[in-house]
Amino acid sequence: MAHYTITCKCGHEHTYQLFGKMKERERKLAWLETQVCPECEAKNRAKSREDKTSKAQAEAEEKGLPTLVGSEKQVAWAMSIRYDFLRALDRLEPLATTAEARQMMDKWSGLIKAQTSARWFIDNRDNLTTDNKRAILNSFIQIFEK
Ligand SMILES: [Zn+2]
Repeated sequence: MAHYTITCKCGHEHTYQLFGKMKERERKLAWLETQVCPECEAKNRAKSREDKTSKAQAEAEEKGLPTLVGSEKQVAWAMSIRYDFLRALDRLEPLATTAEARQMMDKWSGLIKAQTSARWFIDNRDNLTTDNKRAILNSFIQIFEK
């Protein structure tokens, strides 16, 4: 075990504690130098959360989506999940090649847009951000067609 102070991609110095074989440590250090420090990482994450919240808010206003019901924290989180739901639905669009499939997508879209429970979004948030259309489709069938 040893401590290594390196200059991260963001220009900040950070000390890491590394374990294991020397070769592995060297590889890890080389990789860490290409990354931002943990403080910048946390800031970036907070920033992208805020960006997403404001995008979700703008969309809600634009599309006249209902105000969600829940605690302040739940509502903020659920709004960003609702945003993911609608993006996930967009990704499925190309799969809706039959009238029947299209009808189902319209129904899902309606259900998502009418949902006002923050809790509901939080409870059903799985598999929305994946690129795997089948996983999204299976999730939606689970949620809406059970
Ligand atoms: Zn930094």
